[in-house]
Amino acid sequence: MATAQRTAARRTITRRKALLAGGGAVALGAGGLAGRRAWLDREPPSPQPLDAAGNALWSNWSGSEHAWPAARHAPASEAELAGLMARAAAPIRAVGAGHSFTGLVPTDATLVSLDRMSGIVSHDAALHRASVRAGTRLAPLGEALAAIGQEMPNLPDIDRQSLAGALATGTHGTGKTMMALHGNVVEMRLVTPAGETVTCSRQANADLFHAARVGLGAFGIVTEVTLQNAPLARVRKTASIVETEELLRQWPDLAGRHRNAEFMIIPFSGRSLLITLDETGDPVAPRGPDRDTGGLMQLKLLRDVFEFAPGLRRRLAAWFLDGQPPETAVDEGWKLLANARPVRFHEMEYHVPAEAQVEALREVLKRIESDRRDVFFPIEARVVAPDDAWLSPFYGRASGSIAVHAYYKDDYDFLFTLVEPALRAAGGRPHWGKLHSLGAADLRALYPMWDAAAEMRQATDPQGRMLNRHLRRVFFDV
Ligand SMILES: Cc1cc2nc3c(=O)[nH]c(=O)nc-3n(C[C@H](O)[C@H](O)[C@H](O)COP(=O)(O)OP(=O)(O)OC[C@H]3O[C@@H](n4cnc5c(N)ncnc54)[C@H](O)[C@@H]3O)c2cc1C
Repeated sequence: MATAQRTAARRTITRRKALLAGGGAVALGAGGLAGRRAWLDREPPSPQPLDAAGNALWSNWSGSEHAWPAARHAPASEAELAGLMARAAAPIRAVGAGHSFTGLVPTDATLVSLDRMSGIVSHDAALHRASVRAGTRLAPLGEALAAIGQEMPNLPDIDRQSLAGALATGTHGTGKTMMALHGNVVEMRLVTPAGETVTCSRQANADLFHAARVGLGAFGIVTEVTLQNAPLARVRKTASIVETEELLRQWPDLAGRHRNAEFMIIPFSGRSLLITLDETGDPVAPRGPDRDTGGLMQLKLLRDVFEFAPGLRRRLAAWFLDGQPPETAVDEGWKLLANARPVRFHEMEYHVPAEAQVEALREVLKRIESDRRDVFFPIEARVVAPDDAWLSPFYGRASGSIAVHAYYKDDYDFLFTLVEPALRAAGGRPHWGKLHSLGAADLRALYPMWDAAAEMRQATDPQGRMLNRHLRRVFFDV
């Protein structure tokens, strides 16, 4: 290890130790406060593992949604899926990795997983395209694509999702010129609720293609997707702590200067973590072990102990964060874009017009810092290029995303009462897979092609066999 690196690492460890020791001392001194926090810091109650009829529990990653489906299917082929779609009890809901925070998946009737339909079907080396079974998870897909010299141009923050699940909610990464994942879909095959198999693209069944690319699992079950990928590219990833005010001033310029750029505002610190990725010819320097999780737990400790002394919390957080050395890694993009996120949370994310992002971020930060001292998760800011899928939150406009998180043991009502009004006032459209309270009337006002998409849904599923309670609100406000 070079001397500078060794000194930086020692500095980080010393500050961590000091923070822990300081936290411990203050916690002992302020026993009442720490005791209150320990009492609040309990596992949320879990639903029953079986319902009265003996059906097993399904719940999502965050624990906010659950159901006891009477029938579960994992077909191994399109023909098997087509057979079961025609006769299955409604609501029929597809599930991927269960990583959505909203109630898109729950059903008490039929749950269909495509876990047995995964892997690459075929590829075109010259065009960098690959046809992929829709149940494939993004992490193994990265490896399989790399083996044929391809990668998805961009990835979200994690790679646990299934391909179809990620596409269905408009899952995205960051990058001013980079579309969300569905922007690179060339063709899709899906099985309709009537059991028919349909192929759609810009050339064939174009209206279905435009409606179902971000389809919320409401237009049928997607079985295969042809992706426009990119040749493998080596990138340099840099993550460093910066002053939030300075960053907000420079953000529109910074976002345009890097292939991928995002930042996480760390509330009650005046600091943010800025992450950028740019193509490079430098030699490979693989990423190190995950430091984000440890850092997050330090922020929780600061919250636990200094929640009622925001001035002190801010000074200590800034001192701790300023001691963190920047992290860099050089590798293929698919290896550096996604991260592990082992600490569970609840999340709301809205996509506002790009030019409204900085002001909306200031407003959200102001609201949290004045009203919610219990928040310690960073506020995430990303940029996404426009596309033309009818239900895409990025339809026809360059967007700035703002995501607010709450620790899974903490109350998250403030996302709806404090954060959502600010994001709506900025013209935001909600991420389909993340918490929001909007129904059909609100959504229709936000989506220029809403009526065309709703008509296509009605034509594809006239009896509403794929609609659960959440989707009835989304499409009919009931
Ligand atoms: C820790 C974490 C990090 C995240 N990071 C990001 C991020 O960086 N960027 C981002 O945009 N989002 C992010 N998300 C949200 C996540 O990408 C989306 O919610 C995504 O939809 C989850 O994929 P899944 O496979 O778990 O789908 P599920 O949640 O299981 O399902 C989502 C939707 O897809 C439908 N569906 C599933 N399979 C099919 C199919 N075969 N055919 C038709 N419909 C189908 C379901 O019916 C449902 O409507 C994150 C979520 C978590 C928990």
